[in-house]
Amino acid sequence: MVRVKSRCWRCGEISLSLQDIILVEHGDGEGTFYTFICGTCGGAQAYPADARFVDFMRMNGAPPVILNPPIEYKEAREEPPLSWDDLLDLHLLLEEGR
Ligand SMILES: [Zn+2]
Repeated sequence: MVRVKSRCWRCGEISLSLQDIILVEHGDGEGTFYTFICGTCGGAQAYPADARFVDFMRMNGAPPVILNPPIEYKEAREEPPLSWDDLLDLHLLLEEGR
């Protein structure tokens, strides 16, 4: 079975089987990460995956899972954050509605 070496922030260098690893590609192009649970301490880990590692996983039948953020998430990011003025406006609207 193919083993991959990685690091656990608690245990140091560890050996993983490909089944232990989940490769996650962000659908909005923010990069690909691999994640796993350390077999020794049970800690969840995530690290950026470079193109070579992604190819390696693909060749071994473990292509990345594409993670698409909800549309609302993107739309919300284009709006400026709520300000005090927005809250005051909302407050006045609510007052008028009484
Ligand atoms: Zn560990």
